[in-house]
Amino acid sequence: MPHPRRLVVLGSTGSIGVSTLEVVEHLTPTFEVVGLVAGRRVERLAEQIVRFRPRMVAVLDESAARTLRTLLEGTRDAPRVVSGPAGAAAVVLETAADVVMAAIVGAAGLAPTLEAVKAGKTVGLANKEALVIAGGLMVEAARRSGATLLPVDSEHNAVHQCLRAGGPDEVRRIVLTASGGPFRGRSRAELEHVTVREALDHPTWSMGDKITIDSATLMNKGLEVIEAHFLFGLPGAAIDVLVHPQSVVHSMVEFRDGSVVAQLGVPDMRHPIQYALTWPERREGCIPRLDLARLATLTFEAPDVDVFPCLKLAYAALEAGGDVPARLSAANEVAVQGFLQGKIGFMDVPRTIEAVLERESKAPADDLESLLEADRRAREIARSIIRERRTRR
Ligand code: NAD
Ligand code: MG
Repeated sequence: MPHPRRLVVLGSTGSIGVSTLEVVEHLTPTFEVVGLVAGRRVERLAEQIVRFRPRMVAVLDESAARTLRTLLEGTRDAPRVVSGPAGAAAVVLETAADVVMAAIVGAAGLAPTLEAVKAGKTVGLANKEALVIAGGLMVEAARRSGATLLPVDSEHNAVHQCLRAGGPDEVRRIVLTASGGPFRGRSRAELEHVTVREALDHPTWSMGDKITIDSATLMNKGLEVIEAHFLFGLPGAAIDVLVHPQSVVHSMVEFRDGSVVAQLGVPDMRHPIQYALTWPERREGCIPRLDLARLATLTFEAPDVDVFPCLKLAYAALEAGGDVPARLSAANEVAVQGFLQGKIGFMDVPRTIEAVLERESKAPADDLESLLEADRRAREIARSIIRERRTRR
């Protein structure tokens, strides 16, 4: 029996993190969980610690760390508890991990994910914002260190699978499918007044709040277009989006000869997670099988970019390059949070992002410091735009 592979899960208490640990249990004894990183949900983290016995864990800050240490008093083989971004990086580097699942949400996941890539780990990449913000740096770091990046996002995971059917020079375009979210078919005027609860009610996937709102605005698909550019080295013009409400065809690749290869499966993230964890092998799955006869119909339609301007904004940011995708992602994080907190309306999300992008011109994106600075400024501008909008209401 080979040694278990040492696994660190960044964002272990979130939707992807929890599903990852389910897959790990299913794959027992393939993995040994050596490190976990989470934000504030320390009760759930404490349960995971008892179950998986990692050597080291990191949480958002020292206050969360103190709460966790108290919860763990009397626990046999309790792990070392550290905190903050430096703590998260330490878990990646000091646990001798072979595989890192990057599943923190938003820009907060960038630094530890980049550390994992620089250290040459095999990285399961769910945290798409990390690639949107610093895709160039990430890909270059992987090339230098020999790290393997395995996409966990279902669409990119599907493309990764489809690409096994042909060579890189044989690809004409990729087609990312989108469920269309809860507001597919609505008009702009209707979208002005939708509520947070309606926006959180996703038709096919159950996910964290931020990505669920991103799916409703179609920014999720926009971020995924940028993610696909960096993962597969294709220009925006060769990355198309197709609305497919059943979320069964997870994406497709069209080859030069016109042949289209698609990957299908039930909409369950444990599927792409397991693929990334066991690649290049396939193992017995732990999720329901696809029954196409029962589904009977799969439908497709073009996205409506006038009703969902976020998709257009993301294509334009990719085209512009430099630090523009990083600013798009930062402005989006702040706007989504503003919407979730009831500070702005649904259509104010794209308006805020557009206003932030118009405020500054493009700058180069050659190093992490300037990208983080662009991210910080974009957040500040987004917050001030949201404040102005509220005082005018
Ligand atoms: P989530 O909100 O459910 O979980 C986020 C995790 O990150 C939690 O464990 C949280 O504690 C942790 N976290 C947040 N801020 C942190 C910080 N500053 N330091 C340390 N930990 C922090 O999110 P999710 O839905 O699991 O999504 C995670 C990532 O995966 C996102 O980038 C999302 O776009 C991507 N993704 C998710 C899905 C899905 O089905 N949920 C699908 C595709 C891609
Ligand atoms: Mg996706």
